[in-house]
Amino acid sequence: MTMKFPPRTPANVLWHDVNELKSVAHQWAERINVVVPQIQARQMRSKWASISTTGRLTLNTDLLQIPKELGEFVIVHELVHLLVPNHGKVFKSFMHAYLPDWEQRERHLRIYAHTVRKRDQAK
Ligand SMILES: [Zn+2]
Repeated sequence: MTMKFPPRTPANVLWHDVNELKSVAHQWAERINVVVPQIQARQMRSKWASISTTGRLTLNTDLLQIPKELGEFVIVHELVHLLVPNHGKVFKSFMHAYLPDWEQRERHLRIYAHTVRKRDQAK
């Protein structure tokens, strides 16, 4: 299967910097009402983000290169894992409640996942 190379993302839909990304993650944690004692950002090889059971959230700095709404989806996905550890029905209903268009964002994100993998292979 061939995948189209994603168009370059216009600057106005990107995160301003890591601090903006982290501050939005804090806002979402408050909204979802989960405890997130630490949010860090670093380059990650094969995923956009991860979260520990104790709520330590790690965000891939590559999120700064893709549209904000996709990073927001990644943040909400990870935070909802503090409520539901799997991707089952309950998880999806929380996603629908917090981000009604999450499925569309998830599909859009796949285009960029391909780009990140390509870059990693080249390293
Ligand atoms: Zn997940």
